[in-house]
Amino acid sequence: MEVRAFQDLIRDIYFQRDQRRGGDKTFLWFLEEVGELTRAYRREESEKIGGEMADVVAWLASVANLLDIDLESELKKKYPKVCPLCFSSPCHCPFRRLHILEIPFFKPPEVIFIEPKIVAHLMEYGLAYVLFKILRTCTDAF
Ligand SMILES: [Zn+2]
Repeated sequence: MEVRAFQDLIRDIYFQRDQRRGGDKTFLWFLEEVGELTRAYRREESEKIGGEMADVVAWLASVANLLDIDLESELKKKYPKVCPLCFSSPCHCPFRRLHILEIPFFKPPEVIFIEPKIVAHLMEYGLAYVLFKILRTCTDAF
């Protein structure tokens, strides 16, 4: 199944309910599913992980439908047949640790490293979006 076909399927099944619920609550459900996936991953519940991934993608499709965003064309734009950063396939970007550098409202006295375990905890407690915004702010500088 193509991404667009899946998004259409989710629209057919859920769009009316998604509209009634509204964008904010639908987005929170998406985060809830990310939390459930994180929990299953951290607990190594391999029998649940695939299903949780499906839920995450389905709720993402619902959010995209409400915002009238075509996921397939966004994916193709953002991820052409090469890595969007180094323009090669496979990617040759260097690995780097996630870190926060001088966020204006945060002003850390030194570089703060975020261990993957902490990221998992934050995501589990629904702070994925906030974390994403912070990391985005930092990594845009690179
Ligand atoms: Zn790359």
